[in-house]
Amino acid sequence: MEKNQIIDLEITDLSYEAMGVAHHEGMTVFVNNALPGEIVSAKILKVKKSFAFAKIEEIKKESPDRVDIKLNQWVQTGLASLAHIKYDKQLEFKRNQVVNLLKKAHLEDKEVGQTLASPEETGYRNKAQVPVREVDGQLEIGFFRRHSHDLVPLTNFFTTDPEIDRVLVAVRDILRAHHVPAYDEIHNQGEVRYLDVRRSKDSGEIMVILVCLHKDFDQLPAVADDIKKIDKVDSLVLNHNPKKTNVILGKTDYLIFGNPQIVDKIGDVKFRISPESFFQINSLQTPRLYDLAIKNADLKPSDVVVDAYSGIGTIGLSVARHVKSVRGIEVVGDAVKDANANAELNGISNAKYVTGKAEKVMPRWASEGMKTDVIFVDPPRKGLTPEFIDAAVTTGPKKIVYISCNPATLVRDLQDFQKHGYDFDRIDPVDMFPQTPHVEAVTVLTKEN
Ligand code: SAH
Repeated sequence: MEKNQIIDLEITDLSYEAMGVAHHEGMTVFVNNALPGEIVSAKILKVKKSFAFAKIEEIKKESPDRVDIKLNQWVQTGLASLAHIKYDKQLEFKRNQVVNLLKKAHLEDKEVGQTLASPEETGYRNKAQVPVREVDGQLEIGFFRRHSHDLVPLTNFFTTDPEIDRVLVAVRDILRAHHVPAYDEIHNQGEVRYLDVRRSKDSGEIMVILVCLHKDFDQLPAVADDIKKIDKVDSLVLNHNPKKTNVILGKTDYLIFGNPQIVDKIGDVKFRISPESFFQINSLQTPRLYDLAIKNADLKPSDVVVDAYSGIGTIGLSVARHVKSVRGIEVVGDAVKDANANAELNGISNAKYVTGKAEKVMPRWASEGMKTDVIFVDPPRKGLTPEFIDAAVTTGPKKIVYISCNPATLVRDLQDFQKHGYDFDRIDPVDMFPQTPHVEAVTVLTKEN
């Protein structure tokens, strides 16, 4: 097999990144955007020892699960790399990932629920962070082509709230009109690196964050005046990120106008959210995710609860009224401030959040003799650490509710909990990110007698 060769392939599977998988002369070939059951003529792009990458030249037999999408760029950029697959098949694809991981771990006796569908299949994101670059002499917003930093200009981001798309385009036009230079990442020059726009589904408030190389630039006052005139924009923040880095946000925020936080609601609890704080992006699906987690936690009024990886306290504050106390841990200081302020905002006095790494704070609490009844964990993709798991079980919880955004680390951590005498019956996938391969899942560990 060699580069640029064109061969016919029968697609038999989907990889976890949603690439079509085919086998050819002992090689595994990953074909961009191809679906199981399809026969495609494909061009080989890259050849490795036992596998290769290819792209479709022509679909000779099309899968009935394929949908026509308006813009190929959604799939090419990885903005919505499942957009070419029917929604019910996307849900099945996500469930299968959990099933396959459990099988590999010899845990096939565990049940896996049907993936809980999102109420909105498109336009569900309450926040967009899009790169700003110069393309053909013009400032553009868009998304990077998959596995690259080539900006593909876009104005319809498909998975974001259309109101956010409207504001993104309006801000782009203002930056163009004032000749503000886009960021040049090769030379670490220029000005605007990213546009970050958030909208509260509850109040309709919109916050614009300009992520900039410098904390000030000549055109800023005029740009701010024009952004203020965009319909429904309530606040503007300049985030200063001077470093040569792929990390989107810098460490300092400057409020240019409006409120420093946006207020949203989950269920009947209000949340104030700072620019640096994590907030679940699918506003309508989040309460359904939490309901599933909370219902399975079987909470009692006497329970001492821990909310680890708490963000702005969304899970803990949703349960605080039904339990004795909540203690939360979160590594981002601004999010912790938000969490404590959110407790106050909602008249909740039995919840306290501290700043720190969960894998450091939990062992400290355990060594101080803390006892818990229910622990909620909602870690980032890398999952928990053995130190955290060890300390968590030392506090003797009846239940540990695990919300995960990466089923691979979830299954790894569940096996670790099993060694400590905890077990689970089922995993329930929840679709927080339609049109993308991301899988969210909830499971409850119970102490074995
Ligand atoms: N439970 C929240 C946030 C989940 S996202 C919600 O549902 O909205 C994961 C959170 O973990 C983020 O807020 C992130 O800042 C935080 N985090 C990442 N690494 C951490 C660590 N080592 N210790 C504590 N928190 C961490």
